[in-house]
Amino acid sequence: MSKRDYYEVLGVAKTASESELKVAFRKLAMVHHPDRNPGDKEAEIKFKEVNEAYQCLADGQKRAAYDRFGHAAFSQGGAGGPGFGNEFGDFMSDIFENFFGDGRGAPGGGRGRGGAPGRERGADLRYNLEISLEEAFAGKTETIRIPTSIACETCSGTGAKAGSKPRTCSTCGGYGRVRAAQGFFAIERTCPNCHGRGEVVDDPCPSCSGAGRVNRERTLSINVPAGVDDGLRIRLAGEGESGLRGGPPGDLYVFLSIKPHPFFQRDGADLFCRVPISMVTAALSGEITVPVIDGSQTQVRIPAGTQTAKQFRIKGKGMPVLRSREVGDLYIQVSVETPQNLTKRQRELLQEFDQSASDENHPESAGFFSKVRDFFVSGSTRA
Ligand SMILES: [Zn+2]
Ligand SMILES: [Zn+2]
Repeated sequence: MSKRDYYEVLGVAKTASESELKVAFRKLAMVHHPDRNPGDKEAEIKFKEVNEAYQCLADGQKRAAYDRFGHAAFSQGGAGGPGFGNEFGDFMSDIFENFFGDGRGAPGGGRGRGGAPGRERGADLRYNLEISLEEAFAGKTETIRIPTSIACETCSGTGAKAGSKPRTCSTCGGYGRVRAAQGFFAIERTCPNCHGRGEVVDDPCPSCSGAGRVNRERTLSINVPAGVDDGLRIRLAGEGESGLRGGPPGDLYVFLSIKPHPFFQRDGADLFCRVPISMVTAALSGEITVPVIDGSQTQVRIPAGTQTAKQFRIKGKGMPVLRSREVGDLYIQVSVETPQNLTKRQRELLQEFDQSASDENHPESAGFFSKVRDFFVSGSTRA
């Protein structure tokens, strides 16, 4: 049996563009597809022929070889072309899905052309949950109430009054969409009669006025794990609004935010706390008591001569790391508080101290001012 020319099979010119090939293939594949012609041997052969031709011509390299050598390019011992036509079954169904995907009731049909018209996935819901830093530290179970709509119990979500049934929309034949010619084009739009549902309720359910859903407040328990951070999103699959007329429900997204803490700042798993200490503690050393996020307190030793902004690390007193056993650290940053509202006696004592003070008491100041002096002296020499 001599093979027909591939271009002839597809009914296109030798100069056909890729998209022309595609259109031609699509048309012919539709006509000859075995699904549409059950038991028709001839259609099957035609379909294979069309497929083979398209597989070759759609591939730039194969097409070039075919243009030069014709079918000889792919015969045994030829240029190593694969034998089309044998294992085309699975391969073909992939292609078919790509081309016609939605028309054949592809999986995941919710809204639109895929699923049954009228079935609609419920909307996703967002819930903002604000928790304290202590709660983020310990984790918590939060009970939230969300206003949402659920399938109407009276009519089981159909929207039709008990004893009646929704009937198929006569305007669109249940498709949910109608086509209207507009000049050269056929425009498809949502059916004005059933608003895309594909069916009409003549006798609406009194509980839901035919919507199939009613508004309710739902109570949900949310488990917030220890260590969560600001901006975290928790998804609760299927906890969103219920779908329309048997459609699947949407999801609920809980967006976490963490209230600012009066004295802890967080950086990842570490916590920072600024603690004022007295001038005397800073100078003479001492021990201070600092807060810990778990509600306890701990002691920090302040060595003599501590300056403002000095940090002390307390290991393992920070935030837990989400879904791990690690724990961050707590950093205490001290700031030396200058005494205010001095009594006469206190002033005298400080003045007395000042008179006895030397550069060694304030090495930083001494160093700084000697640098300043040097700067101006060398500056004046330059001038
Ligand atoms: Zn109802
Ligand atoms: Zn309709």
